[in-house]
Amino acid sequence: MNDSKGKISFFENVNRNFDRAAQFTSHPKGLLEQIKGCNSVYSFQFPVRTSKGLEVMRGWRVEHSYHKLPVKGGIRYSENASEDEVKALAALMTYKCAVVDVPFGGAKGAIKFNPKNYSVTDIEVVTRRYTSELIRKNYLGPGVDVPAPDYGSGPREMAWIADTYATFYPGKIDALACVTGKPVAEGGVRGRTEATGKGIFFGLQEACDNANDMKKLGLNRGISGKRVVVQGLGNVGYHAAKFCQEGGAVIVALAEYEGAVYNPKGLDVDAVVKHRKETGSILKFPGAKDLPHSIDALELECDILIPAALEEQITEENAPRIRAKIIGEGANGPTTVAAEEILLKKGVMVIPDMYLNAGGVTVSYFEWLKNLSHVRFGRMDKRFEHSAFDKIVQAVEKSTGKSFPEEERKLITKGADEIDLVNSGLEETMTSAYNQIREILKSNGKIPDLRTAAFLNAIDKIATAYVELGIFP
Ligand code: NAD
Repeated sequence: MNDSKGKISFFENVNRNFDRAAQFTSHPKGLLEQIKGCNSVYSFQFPVRTSKGLEVMRGWRVEHSYHKLPVKGGIRYSENASEDEVKALAALMTYKCAVVDVPFGGAKGAIKFNPKNYSVTDIEVVTRRYTSELIRKNYLGPGVDVPAPDYGSGPREMAWIADTYATFYPGKIDALACVTGKPVAEGGVRGRTEATGKGIFFGLQEACDNANDMKKLGLNRGISGKRVVVQGLGNVGYHAAKFCQEGGAVIVALAEYEGAVYNPKGLDVDAVVKHRKETGSILKFPGAKDLPHSIDALELECDILIPAALEEQITEENAPRIRAKIIGEGANGPTTVAAEEILLKKGVMVIPDMYLNAGGVTVSYFEWLKNLSHVRFGRMDKRFEHSAFDKIVQAVEKSTGKSFPEEERKLITKGADEIDLVNSGLEETMTSAYNQIREILKSNGKIPDLRTAAFLNAIDKIATAYVELGIFP
């Protein structure tokens, strides 16, 4: 679908990427059509009484694929939300879950409003009303459709959704599993808030660890010392920047909607966030140069550019001026199809959203499992592991006649906590998924890029699920 200026829509962008990958498969046309289209689109309006008076708001929930249930995907709170955008994001969720082997179909939701213009009480009323609209049509439930946070929403909103659902279904034992990204005290899992950013870091770390791939880009192996630019300092961008900094990368620029700050010697992420909280703007950070427009930061010379704000930030207009060697897509759909063609010709490595930002849904999956099992990860085995490791240490000490220093002993004998297990599962998922995609890319010289390889990986897995279900021969 093209708009009046001939620009292709976000959903069309996703579908073009799908088609490019589908050429490398031998799946029947009907099966590919079934995978590509949205299975169900719920568009609705609802009246709410906010402090501004009675308003009618527009909401959506799109369930893209039922090849696995429940379906899963965030809820976006944005005045720019549209049906096309929700469909595109729902489709990306399907492919994303397949790439990281999370057993869900894809979905996405949105409410067309800007929460920054409303009080907390108003946002709660809107969230609870939207939730009851989903319940009314069976678009919410632990085995049906499980939302999560997205742009403009967070743990607080997820807690309201869980509470509304539990009110409608009193006594339903698995009610908490109807939504993920909840606060830990409300059934969330430790590590979910930072999961997407941490997953981005693990993904970039794995990509940078391949010496041959880095050599082709004119870079050294490893993430340490790489110059990084991040656009968007929300949940995804902040955590991605912070973990990259902790991993030894140099954060040379950070961009928010009011502009960007640049310092080739490096910025301290937390200090920039503190400055923005105190002054109301990212600009005028001590020692840094101001860039008046956020978009200008994308054109700075750097090794890794992480767009982590919104879709369609790298277009055919600015792609020729992008000087990054690696683009790590933190946001969903930040690069248009036309822009990517330009970037690939320039030899830029694009690590696609549907893989790189999958850390959030991966840890959401862990949260869902925790809610269904009604037990904190590590609760059963932490002490057991500790005593087993302690016995090994004692045996080593006895045979060598030397004692471990107390601090070292504590580190070695520690049993795994929930956060340790979540991070371990996340790192394993991101690392093995990257290698699956890279192997597909390397296995066929005609596959042009990592995105096509990731789509190919997803299409094959979803096709297999449909064949196993007996729906397609
Ligand atoms: P968020 O609302 O927490 O943060 C977005 C940030 O981007 C905000 O700080 C906002 O001020 C900033 N921003 C808006 N317009 C900007 C512009 N033009 N330039 C620079 N900054 C701008 O949202 P989020 O959860 O971090 O999501 C960001 C992106 O990541 C979205 O595309 C979302 O779909 C995607 N994503 C989020 C998750 C998740 O777990 N939250 C998971 C996967 C993908």
